[in-house]
Amino acid sequence: MSHQDTPRYLAASPAPGGLFAPRMRIETLAVHAGHAADPSTGAVTPPIHLSTTFERDLDGGFRAGHVYARTSNPNRDALEEAMAALEGGATAIAYGSGSAATMSVFQALSPGDHVIAPHDAYYGTLRQLREIFARWGLEHDAVDMTDVDAVARVVRPETRVVWVETPSNPLVRVVDIARLADLAHTVGARCVVDNTWATPVLQRPLGLGADLVMHSTTKYLGGHSDLLGGAIVAKSDGDFVERMRLTQRVGGAIPSPFDCWLLLRGIRTLPWRIAAHCSNAMTVARYLESNRAVEAVHYPGLESHSGHEIAMRQMSDFGGMMSIQLHGGEAAAMALTHRVKLFTRATSLGGTESLIEHRRSVEGPTSISPENLLRLSIGLEHPDDLIEDLDEALRAH
Ligand SMILES: *Cc1c(COP(=O)(O)O)cnc(C)c1O
Repeated sequence: MSHQDTPRYLAASPAPGGLFAPRMRIETLAVHAGHAADPSTGAVTPPIHLSTTFERDLDGGFRAGHVYARTSNPNRDALEEAMAALEGGATAIAYGSGSAATMSVFQALSPGDHVIAPHDAYYGTLRQLREIFARWGLEHDAVDMTDVDAVARVVRPETRVVWVETPSNPLVRVVDIARLADLAHTVGARCVVDNTWATPVLQRPLGLGADLVMHSTTKYLGGHSDLLGGAIVAKSDGDFVERMRLTQRVGGAIPSPFDCWLLLRGIRTLPWRIAAHCSNAMTVARYLESNRAVEAVHYPGLESHSGHEIAMRQMSDFGGMMSIQLHGGEAAAMALTHRVKLFTRATSLGGTESLIEHRRSVEGPTSISPENLLRLSIGLEHPDDLIEDLDEALRAH
């Protein structure tokens, strides 16, 4: 990254409300939210509480409020406090994976309710709707949300959730959160935003009108490809949030204390990692755009990108994810994944290391990803090294 450039989000508005002073900036929140020296030892870095059960006092109470670790655990409490502060929400619920967080939203609905989801949503989200919740009477439509009128056409009185994912996977498309939230509210539905790719550093859906934010914390928030986690952050408490908490505590969809600890450790550096991911990705995207072997580069930071205008309004920078389409079809795309040396051929995203993946092969028969498309998660290496690696691999093209 070029260290002379001030990351764009530093000039953006501070995180709204939460437990912290409204003027506190996200770098400070990331370091301090959910953090306090351990009262029993003075340890500045928090201990990991592995105990599954907590001593009952003589009066029958529990001195720190914890009874049994499925119901609550100190590491999870600290993580939830930090997640709520980062997104500017009233409350957060941590889960064992992003998919469990998504499940808990759908499980809070009732048979006959209707969900609208993007046709290019994370494929696991659509699989849940198709293969799990259809049998429980939950109806859904999958539509192209870049066309708000198309969404308006499928909204009905039973619509309870409008699920939004932006930027999307794998075409990195950007949709207008504020307009979709307004549309959801016309029938009293909730707008839920999967904010995994943007992270609260770049995009705060609750401030744009969304009611709930979902995260796969496995990705940028953890940031080191070494934990699975998920979270829901809610703008306000209420019955719906209580039902999701039931899935977490009574359903047992919880993260381990160690994963909560690792995740909070990852969050401490999140804003600075994201600044470097964004800067690297912009540099790599400009290079790829200029390479003749590349048919298209999908990165919202490029003026040529269909969602660039909305991204300029709704995000403070453009993130570390992009996809490219190569001349020469699937064979050319596969060949590039074999020739690169720094990019690892693997699924997932948001870690320190750059990854490359042919999405269509991973997504299987229901995939709508083009066959010549590769998804790149741009890591924290020096961008010139990444460009040299891609340049050499593309020269053989
Ligand atoms: C990875 C991912 C998920 C699923 O999260 P898991 O932690 O793998 O269960 C959901 N949404 C998006 C956008 C993702 O990238």
